[in-house]
Amino acid sequence: MSCIYCGHYILYKLKDGNFKCAKCKRKFSPKKIERKAKILKGFIDELTPNQISKKYGISYASVVKEIKHIRKVAASICERKFLIKQDIKEFEEYLYVPKTKKGDINSIYTAQNFLTIDYGGKIYNILLSSMKNYDTLDIEEIKKIFNQNRIINIKKKEKIIKFWEYFEKFITKFKGINEENFFYYLKEAELRFNKFKIQVNDIVN
Ligand SMILES: [Zn+2]
Repeated sequence: MSCIYCGHYILYKLKDGNFKCAKCKRKFSPKKIERKAKILKGFIDELTPNQISKKYGISYASVVKEIKHIRKVAASICERKFLIKQDIKEFEEYLYVPKTKKGDINSIYTAQNFLTIDYGGKIYNILLSSMKNYDTLDIEEIKKIFNQNRIINIKKKEKIIKFWEYFEKFITKFKGINEENFFYYLKEAELRFNKFKIQVNDIVN
């Protein structure tokens, strides 16, 4: 075992069962790390919180809390990767309406609007303004605004369409995602689609 913070290999075992790193002097609990690693494994394998809880004998509440945290980390990984490699190839706006609401004329007001960017073969999404802002307008007026202001720069857009297809499938696994959390699910899809790695070291702290 090495230090989860700096990777140094000399560790002191403390009386309380925790470890202290000889180099960076930080302490950590191997049990906690092990639990985090199990939840992360379940997350990567796309198990539900319930399945993870049962498989590893960890309380459901702890699993849910940790997964929330993992999604935040996933979002920051996506952010970092995009910032390093700013090679924007093409982008297009997407309007996501949950399947259960398709066919409902008022669904436009609850739709999620985001911009999907292809940057050197990887996908990055920017959440745009909430459709709630349009709820004083009728459908025809909204359509007009969209047709006039649509952000679009496409050549082949293969990757972008592939992402949308992936996202539509991915998102149906989750029921009742509220608006504030939508961003994190979008980023989780992005992380998985881009095949970015997330490791235990990323989720400690
Ligand atoms: Zn250390």
